[in-house]
Amino acid sequence: MELACLDLEGVLIPEIWIAFAEKTGINALKATTRDIPDYDELMTMRLGELDKAGLGLNEIQEVIGTLSPLPGAADFLDWLRERFQVVILSDTFYEFAGPLMAPLGYPTLLCHKLTVDDNGKVLDYNLRQANPKRQAICAFKTMYYRTIAAGDSYNDTTMLSEADAGILFSAPQNVIEEFPQFPAVHSYEDLKQAFINASIRKLSL
Ligand SMILES: [Mg+2]
Repeated sequence: MELACLDLEGVLIPEIWIAFAEKTGINALKATTRDIPDYDELMTMRLGELDKAGLGLNEIQEVIGTLSPLPGAADFLDWLRERFQVVILSDTFYEFAGPLMAPLGYPTLLCHKLTVDDNGKVLDYNLRQANPKRQAICAFKTMYYRTIAAGDSYNDTTMLSEADAGILFSAPQNVIEEFPQFPAVHSYEDLKQAFINASIRKLSL
């Protein structure tokens, strides 16, 4: 059996923190795992900036309410789910991703959780586990699933390496150059073809 494992932000939906940074004008919040590969360092900085600005989950969810999946994402996901069991492995939070899951048909999503007080202040973040994307692939392998993974950023590269096949989708040039072992594609049509190429089954578009 083959599993398709997808990153979420930058692959199916926009980067939530970047959208929030643009809305609030807090430039530091534009940093993503593309810029700061250490996730704990990145999240500590983000929570500090939210605290300084007096902003919380309510304000973030207001911005998320204005976002939609990337153009073509829902159709791509439907295509993929006809051919693979699909699991989304993300470093986002259920509190953020929730509203964007409906237009994607509520795919299986493994991600993190926030601790928020009654006023919406984000007190802490709770990682699902350490190295969550890679560990999920390791777990699927113990179930004898063959895994094909796709992502766009640094936080995906351990997942792509651990998977039987890894694909970079819409990745920045520095990530593509640093990880030349992965095919790099930039459109859903090419991503479909990359999944077909990576599969050991005879699939067609
Ligand atoms: Mg991403």
